[in-house]
Amino acid sequence: MKISSIILRQIKMDLLHPFTTSVGTERDKDIILVEARSHSGQSGWGESVAIMEPIYNEETVRTNWHMMNDHLIPLLHQQDITHPDEVSERFKKIRGNYNAKAAIECAIWDLYAKENNLPLAQALGGVKNKIEVGVSVGIQSSHENILKQIDEYLQSGYKRIKIKIMPGWDIEILAMIRKKFPTIELMADANCAYTLDDIEHLKKLDQFHLMMIEQPLAHDDIIDHAKLQAQLDTPICLDESIHTYEDARKAIELGSCRIINLKIGRVGGLTESKKIHDLCTKHHIPMWCGGMLEAGIGRAHNLAITSLSQFTLPGDTAPSAHYWKRDIIKPEVAMNNGYIDIPEGPGIGFEPDLEYINELTVHKHVAVMK
Ligand code: MG
Repeated sequence: MKISSIILRQIKMDLLHPFTTSVGTERDKDIILVEARSHSGQSGWGESVAIMEPIYNEETVRTNWHMMNDHLIPLLHQQDITHPDEVSERFKKIRGNYNAKAAIECAIWDLYAKENNLPLAQALGGVKNKIEVGVSVGIQSSHENILKQIDEYLQSGYKRIKIKIMPGWDIEILAMIRKKFPTIELMADANCAYTLDDIEHLKKLDQFHLMMIEQPLAHDDIIDHAKLQAQLDTPICLDESIHTYEDARKAIELGSCRIINLKIGRVGGLTESKKIHDLCTKHHIPMWCGGMLEAGIGRAHNLAITSLSQFTLPGDTAPSAHYWKRDIIKPEVAMNNGYIDIPEGPGIGFEPDLEYINELTVHKHVAVMK
């Protein structure tokens, strides 16, 4: 595979509704799109999940732009790439910066699948032709709003409900949800809002029979999570703590979690995602694919990875219309009765809407391969 150029575009999109978690509220999104062009005229696409502020991890849109241009893209010069697995090998000498690495690597995976006339899902070893979809409900202004919103989501077919929790917005709200919806698939994501001092408090969540509690403790911890898991009946799912296969291996070995939320951008790309998937398969750890309020390109990559067999739990891969007035791909990602079909076309299986992408572009940079 001969890459001729890599084009970076920073676009700005308004979210349909503001989304609040324990770390802040997002109203719009600046997104870096990566287009990898080959000499044969094909284009592969990737999307960075980095946001403007370093509040999910240490990366931002600006650090990604810098890392891609000054450090990562130069590593792709000269030698041809036979298989996308080689990209993460080349990026290995650069520490961290997983969102930036993943966006480029995903574009090259898409390009590889297109050049081989394969759906990306198939190129990754996916086995499903449709996936179950869950939805994440942000922290709301009132209890009534959250119940109304959950009711609407269930009506539209979503297979599980995830609510964001934090101290002061947890037991009372979960009790209220369970009272109205005693049997729904329900889980809670704390986005690191608690500490081990809250063990007695967190034990009270066991009464709600949650599918899991996601990332209750610090973003960089796996030790305290193991201590907490030993005292909870509810499975802990790790999100922020898992950046690599090695992190996943250690967390599983320590008993820090019983479920893993995989985000392609958090672990540096699809090759690392596959390795973590195979590890979880070996250890019977159920997985699901998390979301970072992606636009269509990132969403399409999420669909492809979710088609792998160990993604046994519904993910956060809601349809385009849940987040955006208009998405940047054609067709948009659509849901039928709580399922999304895995596209059958080559690569990600969706066409980037270039006209709209150009309208949204605030910065563009073209790196011509040497
Ligand atoms: Mg999470």
